[in-house]
Amino acid sequence: MHKKFDLIAIGGGSGGIATVNKAAHFGAKCALIEASAIGGTCVNVGCVPKKLTWLASAQAMLLNESEAFGLRAKISAIDWPYFVQKRQAYIERLHQGYINKLNSNGVTLIKGSGSFVSPSQVKVGDDIFEAKHIIIATGGKPALPDIPGKEHAIDSDGFFALQTSRNRLGTPNLEASTKASTSLVQAKQKFSKMVQQDMGDGHPFADNRTAALP
Ligand SMILES: Cc1cc2nc3c(=O)[nH]c(=O)nc-3n(C[C@H](O)[C@H](O)[C@H](O)COP(=O)(O)OP(=O)(O)OC[C@H]3O[C@@H](n4cnc5c(N)ncnc54)[C@H](O)[C@@H]3O)c2cc1C
Repeated sequence: MHKKFDLIAIGGGSGGIATVNKAAHFGAKCALIEASAIGGTCVNVGCVPKKLTWLASAQAMLLNESEAFGLRAKISAIDWPYFVQKRQAYIERLHQGYINKLNSNGVTLIKGSGSFVSPSQVKVGDDIFEAKHIIIATGGKPALPDIPGKEHAIDSDGFFALQTSRNRLGTPNLEASTKASTSLVQAKQKFSKMVQQDMGDGHPFADNRTAALP
């Protein structure tokens, strides 16, 4: 296949999607090349799962504090795999929303990894796509700083891939720590605090709680 467009964006994250949707509004014939899940970092392993984790932890705290208002509601356990499943289902609904929007704007979505073969041509698999304007919107990758104990650390991609919860979470006090990573730690600590308050050290299940609870 050899197809011509006015504009191609390589990378279907926040930057690439916004660019092609806007350009399509102005009448440009656009294509978006995405190697992985549509929505990029923000939707799949960034803003969205972070906020859902934060909201879930805030919800849990509120419910556990409801006794003070005379409401008998309490969470005794957090089902982490179920929470992860619900979070992922939300993300998949967003995927569909983005795809619908691209379709309604007439943007061609090309699945695969794009690489330049000339200044105006991008190859995806065996196909070549051509455009006068090509935007590189391929985002970035997390990197762990070279500090003692880094072999015990995970980045935010690792956090969102957790299928079982961890009982304890720490964050190195780095000036480079981002707002995003701090809020993730706060969300996790809210979950953990709630569990500690609820279970107490002397609880018969206290030794097992790592498996079932954050
Ligand atoms: C944990 C976390 C929380 C965050 N929270 C917030 C927040 O609350 N608010 C906020 O504003 N920002 C937040 N951010 C930042 C936000 O996610 C990024 O600023 C944003 O995603 C950058 O968009 P982008 O389009 O530049 O790159 P990305 O979203 O990373 O998209 C790049 C895309 O390009 C694709 N790609 C790469 N190479 C190729 C190739 N060769 N061919 C085809 N596709 C390719 C990748 O698969 C990816 O989908 C957060 C980030 C993280 C990590």
